Amino acid sequence: MLNHEELQQAVNEIAEEMRARKDRGTVASYIPELAKANADAFGIAIADNHGNVIAAGDADEAFSIQSISKVFTLTLALGKVGDKLWRSVGREPSGSPFNSIVQLESEHGVPRNPFINAGAIVVTDTILSGHQPKEALGEILRFMQFLADDPSIYIDHSVAASEQRTRFRNSALANYMKAFGNLENPVEHVLGVYFHQCAIAMTCRQMAMAGRFLSNSGRNPASNFQVVKPEGSRRINAVMLTCGHYDGSGEFAYRVGLPGKSGVGGGILAIVPGDASICVWSPGLDEAGNSHLGRIALERLAKKMKWSIFGP
Ligand code: GLN
Repeated sequence: MLNHEELQQAVNEIAEEMRARKDRGTVASYIPELAKANADAFGIAIADNHGNVIAAGDADEAFSIQSISKVFTLTLALGKVGDKLWRSVGREPSGSPFNSIVQLESEHGVPRNPFINAGAIVVTDTILSGHQPKEALGEILRFMQFLADDPSIYIDHSVAASEQRTRFRNSALANYMKAFGNLENPVEHVLGVYFHQCAIAMTCRQMAMAGRFLSNSGRNPASNFQVVKPEGSRRINAVMLTCGHYDGSGEFAYRVGLPGKSGVGGGILAIVPGDASICVWSPGLDEAGNSHLGRIALERLAKKMKWSIFGP
């Protein structure tokens, strides 16, 4: 294990290398507002279980968390309905793109897992039940602020509106699941909450802080608050490992070897169970919609720190 200074040095080197690289992937443009992201940005932050935060690059610049939000809505939904959630969404990797509709027909409107769009829409529906959309969204935002211990975390309404205007695929997924009876609430309400949860803006530092409960058996190491039972965080980490990068999940496990969740804003939250929560951000994506340099940076870091859960 490296000490604090050595880890800071390693992270500085990784940030420098990533900033200099020419291969930067492609910034998402299907949500027009996301296309405005600076392709040259790179940030990294590590929050360890002893209360230290180590950061480098653009770690304090806010980015659109997009699908990383799905980790936190899954946590909330499991807290609300427990294992009943698994009646309406599976927990197997899909091997398909994040916005795919193909499996939904043969699988009767029950999405493969909570991290593809269809599955995340079902999870949001579960949180929404019994509430107004505004209340459900407020609950999600407050949860992020609480976990990161930072009330300044906000929703970027221009990103939400941009996704709302170009929502045709997600509308198709939601309407299709509604036809199978797998959504309780009105489609437009569910999508409204989903788009806004994806439009939450956070920095690498805030996201690494928010993920700490997953590296510490469900307990926030700073406040000692038990966010989920140890068994809950173990299971969420398992779903992150197998499904967190869509049809790139196998490759991420092979190269990085950590539970991780990506978003099309270019962020990745990765968890080192027992040790640390890491967030990297670089807006350029690979073909599967995962941050290109984010993954490479995590591969470097996990190797250096011998952090892969599969061994050194
Ligand atoms: N809001 C995005 C969408 O629904 C999230 C996708 C992602 O981050 N992979 O398309």
